[in-house]
Amino acid sequence: MDLGIKGKRALVCASSKGLGLGCARALAEAGVALVMNARGADALEAAAADIRDDFGVEVTTVACDVTTADGQAEVLEAAGEIDILVTNAGGPPPGVWSDWDREDFIAALDANMLTPIALMKAVLPSMMERGWGRVVNITSQSVRAPIGVLGLSNAARTGLTGYVAGTSRQVAHAGVTINNLLPGIHATDRAVSLDKGVTEAQGISMEEAKAQREATIPARRYGTKEEFGAACAFLCSQHAGFIVGQNILLDGGGTNITM
Ligand code: NAP
Repeated sequence: MDLGIKGKRALVCASSKGLGLGCARALAEAGVALVMNARGADALEAAAADIRDDFGVEVTTVACDVTTADGQAEVLEAAGEIDILVTNAGGPPPGVWSDWDREDFIAALDANMLTPIALMKAVLPSMMERGWGRVVNITSQSVRAPIGVLGLSNAARTGLTGYVAGTSRQVAHAGVTINNLLPGIHATDRAVSLDKGVTEAQGISMEEAKAQREATIPARRYGTKEEFGAACAFLCSQHAGFIVGQNILLDGGGTNITM
């Protein structure tokens, strides 16, 4: 399917690896020029070089922490006038409800709620003026059904979800859509670190931790970053202009809910 976005320009945050990289590659395949970001310059440059080689699109890299005000200013400056924004950052650490104090919550809110809000606030006016824009926020299945060990994620991402629900309906008239993609477990470094937490808590091997988690997923496997990226690229396509303010689960059926 031609996504109809060849020649558009996208900022994809936290995109040297994992789900962000999946989104960057799928957009590049559709002919979108990219501004990519991550903290570590080596992996970022390697991912950007692969994308230039594979898809022939222009890729600019910005190595910085996107959860800081300085980092946001840096990526926005490099991005200039963009048509597509994909927000993403690392997820908060696991624990239990009694572990976290105010500083932990502030860090999680900064990374997983206030950063995407700041980026949207910066780019939405220009998208609206030009009459076209797409924003996809990478959130988590934890906004639909809480994950006990990820209380910081449950809290911060639900705050972002509320903001998007209200804001998306105020910008849609100008041809700008905002939607959230909610990953369930995907085979990325994040999944490895979550599985490692299980091995430590339960005294089991990585293989056992993975098998145990896969058994809870109707699809009986972890998702891939390629599948995730394809869904993101579709939401950013010309075909998705009537999809507004939605929270789309990509979880192999793992979240046991009706709607
Ligand atoms: P990942 O494989 O660990 O990749 C994270 C990417 O983000 C890397 O490129 C990393 O590069 C970059 N990054 C992290 N923190 C950053 C920051 N502060 N500023 C700029 N770049 C940053 O993670 P993932 O699995 O793709 O997960 C992406 C998001 O989805 C996370 O918020 C995660 O919690 C959420 N999620 C993932 C899953 C899953 O199963 N994978 C499930 C639910 C939710 P650097 O480290 O070099 O900065």
